Amino acid sequence: MGSTSSSRNHVPNAQELLQETGFSAAHLLRLYERFEFLDRDGRGQLRPDDFEAVRELAMNPIGGRIIGAFFPPGQETVDFPTFVRILAHFRPTEKNRARDGAQTEPANSRTGKLKFAFQLYDLDRDGKISRAELLQVLRAMMGIEVTEEQLQSIAERAIQEADLDRDDAISFDEFRKSLEKVNIDHKMSIRFLK
Ligand code: CA
Ligand code: CA
Repeated sequence: MGSTSSSRNHVPNAQELLQETGFSAAHLLRLYERFEFLDRDGRGQLRPDDFEAVRELAMNPIGGRIIGAFFPPGQETVDFPTFVRILAHFRPTEKNRARDGAQTEPANSRTGKLKFAFQLYDLDRDGKISRAELLQVLRAMMGIEVTEEQLQSIAERAIQEADLDRDDAISFDEFRKSLEKVNIDHKMSIRFLK
């Protein structure tokens, strides 16, 4: 594989990550360079504030939510393999290769992407998006351009449309159904992955 093969040896868990995530060797190397750049103290772990240097996230209104997805409750740092596994959710679905014996959905499958998006809204991770959680995320996304009244009515409509069992919250199945016609690949891309 020419010039990339010697550098690939330096990427921790390279073979395992290539197989698991489907990233190319060149892409994995670029992610590693990106990781090393963000890892300012060189300890091999990123903290939430290290992500502030990612301009695409800093300018993304739900960037804070995306960063939060790297740090499940109780987790204060993220190492390189975890970093890559999370970014794998943002790989385009159509380039997905079938992998024999895979027990779980690949991160970049439609279900994998929807699960990732769902947890950006489900702030307390109880498996449901409540009205309050929806409002909080909508407020962050829309900023000052909309009034509180408009936000309330957008949230109200979203819940009414998605909430099939009328428990006033959106479960993952309801979330998935409500997004049936949405091109999730298009919605979930991070520019530095290209
Ligand atoms: Ca919740
Ligand atoms: Ca419901």
